[in-house]
Amino acid sequence: ESISTASREMYARACEVLPGGNTRTGIFNSPYPIYARSGNGCRVTDLDGVERIDFLNNSTTLIHGHAHPEIVAAVTEAAGRGTCFALPTEAEVEFAEAVCARNESFEWARFTSSGTEAVMMAVQAARAYTGKPKIAKFAGAFHGAYDSVAVNNYGSDSLTPHSHATGTPAAILANTVMIPFNDPDGAVAILRENVDDFACVLIDPVPWRLGLLPANREFLAALRAFCDETGVLLVSDEISSFRIGYHGAMHAMGGVADLTVLGKIIGGGMPIGAVTGRSKFMSVFDPSQGTPKLPHSGSYNANPVSMAAGMASLRLLTPEQIDRINAMGEQVRRELRSVIAEEGLDWAVNGMSSLFRIVTSTVPGSDLSGPELSRLLFQALLTNGILIGNSGLGCVSTPMGQGEIDEFAVNFKQAVRQAVAAARS
Ligand code: PMP
Repeated sequence: ESISTASREMYARACEVLPGGNTRTGIFNSPYPIYARSGNGCRVTDLDGVERIDFLNNSTTLIHGHAHPEIVAAVTEAAGRGTCFALPTEAEVEFAEAVCARNESFEWARFTSSGTEAVMMAVQAARAYTGKPKIAKFAGAFHGAYDSVAVNNYGSDSLTPHSHATGTPAAILANTVMIPFNDPDGAVAILRENVDDFACVLIDPVPWRLGLLPANREFLAALRAFCDETGVLLVSDEISSFRIGYHGAMHAMGGVADLTVLGKIIGGGMPIGAVTGRSKFMSVFDPSQGTPKLPHSGSYNANPVSMAAGMASLRLLTPEQIDRINAMGEQVRRELRSVIAEEGLDWAVNGMSSLFRIVTSTVPGSDLSGPELSRLLFQALLTNGILIGNSGLGCVSTPMGQGEIDEFAVNFKQAVRQAVAAARS
């Protein structure tokens, strides 16, 4: 049975010109991905005209869903004034003011066109400030495609540096050190071994590739204390976790970072990334006193259309809206857990705030792995009108209400039964 006839045909056409028929490894799905035609609110429509509830939201980017009228208006208006200039704009000043107003440690900001670029600039800023080469990151955590951070980024807790990017230079691997997640003593012991070489400790307070479990407060406090003692910068990648609270993830978990990397939700669905933090660290970008320690180029940096979409997105993202979607997220996790229990499975539903991740472990009578089961569940949910990530990642968006949560719970039960049957066949 075909999930989408038109997508299957589009996939054949796409493979003539795109490796694997698309432009992102993570959204490839076998035997073919479904291709989107349009999105509106919390629903996405595929090429056959089939509508599904979108619990993926472009991997947690679209906190206000698709084509939110205020964001569409902001983008349209900005595009009409010109899409990019080799001149700074008021739009970037205004947006920097809005971003910096969210957290007292966000004193200065720099904008990029993606989260990957923002992580890269943050790591380079830490190196420029400290003059040190090494970075530490949680084994298994994902931080985008920059080669220095694309090391052990697929959820494995191995402390031996390894990259899926074949041909990554040994020098890159030698300068990216793995620390174990939520293990303060283990992490600090490793940090102390190379204490003189570290520029930064790069963390995501709620790393989704590690099962979307939050860092605990003692762990964050131990990393903060190590950084305070040694002058190593604590860099918080909140590209996906900023949505946890109005002031961001670190703040919600009682911590504070030296530099924070933002992306996704702050751009309202337009390409975006931001490095923000204390002016003393951000000053490496400052060219007003001569060549800066860290030159920062980019023809699309602080793109005025992204700035305008971002302003609208942040304006809509009030503390009340965050509380509302966080409560819905809690309800989703509870409902999915109860379905899993009813079906007698040992799967988990992790996450916090408006984020969730279904972690499929085993199915009695099947020898499929957790990731293989996740893909079966993903496909079964597609046939039941629900889009999540193929690794079980999902989130709630502001256009959702009780109706979508109820529909998810009912269709999830059906999909779980189908996935389990498929796993056994
Ligand atoms: N860091 C984290 C924690 C992310 O979740 C992502 C995107 N999934 C990135 C970095 C990379 O951001 P982008 O996709 O905008 O390059």
